[in-house]
Amino acid sequence: MEKIAICGAGPAGLAMALMLARSGRDVEVFERFAVPEPVGSGLILQPTGLSVLHMLGLYDRIRGLGHRIDRLWGTDVRTGRAVLDVRYDSGSRGRFGLAVQRAALFSTLHDAVASSGIPIAAGRMVSGVRDVEGRPVLRFSDGSEVGPYGLVIDASGARSAVVSQLCGDDRSRQLDYGAFWATLDANAMAYERNALVQRYDKASVMIGVLPVGRLSAEGRDKIAFFWSQRIDGAEAVLGSGLAAWKAQVIRYWPETAAMLDEIGSWDSLTLARYQHRTLRRPACGRVVFIGDAAHSTSPQLGQGANMALLDAAALSLHLSQHRDMDAAIDAYCRARRYHVRLFQLLSRMFTPFYQGDSAALAFIRDQVVSSLAKVPPAPRILASIVAGTLLDPFASAGVIEHDWQEDSA
Ligand SMILES: Cc1cc2nc3c(=O)[nH]c(=O)nc-3n(C[C@H](O)[C@H](O)[C@H](O)COP(=O)(O)OP(=O)(O)OC[C@H]3O[C@@H](n4cnc5c(N)ncnc54)[C@H](O)[C@@H]3O)c2cc1C
Repeated sequence: MEKIAICGAGPAGLAMALMLARSGRDVEVFERFAVPEPVGSGLILQPTGLSVLHMLGLYDRIRGLGHRIDRLWGTDVRTGRAVLDVRYDSGSRGRFGLAVQRAALFSTLHDAVASSGIPIAAGRMVSGVRDVEGRPVLRFSDGSEVGPYGLVIDASGARSAVVSQLCGDDRSRQLDYGAFWATLDANAMAYERNALVQRYDKASVMIGVLPVGRLSAEGRDKIAFFWSQRIDGAEAVLGSGLAAWKAQVIRYWPETAAMLDEIGSWDSLTLARYQHRTLRRPACGRVVFIGDAAHSTSPQLGQGANMALLDAAALSLHLSQHRDMDAAIDAYCRARRYHVRLFQLLSRMFTPFYQGDSAALAFIRDQVVSSLAKVPPAPRILASIVAGTLLDPFASAGVIEHDWQEDSA
C-alpha cells in the first residue's frame, strides 16, 4: 500500500494518524512547530467527538482529565434573565459534554500516536503540494520536498496553505468578533460546577467561564475564561491597559474579580480570531481535507474539534472499505457532506445572535428566542444541536455512539 502523509498534528491529524496506523497503513505526520503543542485554552468535546475517542480506546483517559458539562447557561447582565439554557439531558440517552484543556486532548492523542510508533516530523512547515503523475509531493517552506505519496491528508487547520493553493481563499470570511481567552485557576472563583456559564450585554458583550479540568491525574483543575472582542477594537483595548479592561469585565460580572487577579499581563490572554469557510468538496485529486482545513467557523456551537474527529473516522472507514483510492475519497466526501453543511449553516446563523453589533438580533434573542426555547420540542432540538447529533453523524463515519448510561455524574 502506498504511503500516506498527514499535514498537521492537531486533533484531526493525530486522530487520523492513529486510525490509519491501526488499520495497517504506512503513515507519517508533518507539523510546523518544532515541538508539537496545542495552541489555545479549552474546548468542549461533544458526544460525537467523545464517541470517536471511545472508539480509539482513549475515552477513559480523557474522561479522567476533563470536566463534565450538563448545561449551557447564559444570562443578560442587565436583567439577570436567562437567555440561553440548554441541557444535554433534554435529549435522550443521558448525553453530556466534556470540557477539556486543549493540552489534555493533545497529550491524550499525541501519547497514543507516539506509542504506536508513528513518525511525526516536527518543525516542518508545509507550504503546498505538487502533482507528480497523479501523486502529490509535499513542499515545505524551506524549499525541500518529500513524496510522492499515495494520499496527502491536509489537517493543518483553518489557515491551511494547501487549501489556499488548491482551493483559493475566496469563500473564507474573517469574522468581526473573536475573543480573548485565558486558562485560570479554578479555585479563584465560585462557579457553576457542570455548566458553561455566559453573561451577555446585547450581542456585543459576551463573557464566559468554562471549567476545563486538569492536565494530569495530579494536576490542578482549571477554568477557561473568555471575553468576546471585536477584532478591529482589540488594539484600543490593549492600549487602554489591563486595569481598565478588568474593571470593565468586573462591572459586568463582579464575581470574576478574584479570578482576574491571576491575569498579571496581556501575555496571559490569547486573542483568538475566527473565520468561516466550508469547502464545496473536501478533496482535490489525491489531497483530502479534514477538520478546520475543510470547514472552519466560530466556536459558538462548540463543534469544530468534534467534527474534525468525525472527519478522521469517516475517512478511515472509507479508506478501509474501498480498494480504489478515488472511490474511497468520493465516499468520504459524501459521508460527511450533510452533517458538515448543516452545522456550518447553524453556526453561521447562531453566531451573530451572540457575537455581533446588531441590537435587533440581541433583542430577538432575549425576548423571543429565549421564550420559544422553553417550548417542546425546542429543548430537545437545542440539546441535539449542541451535542452535534441533530443529523445522525455516527453511521456515515462508522462510529458507534458511546453508552452514556455507563457514566455517573
Ligand atoms: C477559542 C476557540 C474555542 C473553541 N472551542 C471549541 C469547542 O468548545 N469545541 C470544539 O469542538 N471546537 C472548538 N473550537 C474549534 C477547534 O479548536 C477546532 O475546530 C479544532 O482544533 C480543529 O482541529 P484541526 O486538527 O482540524 O486543526 P488545528 O487544531 O488548527 O490543528 C492544525 C495543526 O496543524 C499545524 N499546522 C498548521 N499549519 C501548518 C503547516 N503549514 N505545516 C504543518 N503543520 C501546520 C498546526 O500547528 C496544528 O498543530 C474552538 C476554537 C477556538 C479558536
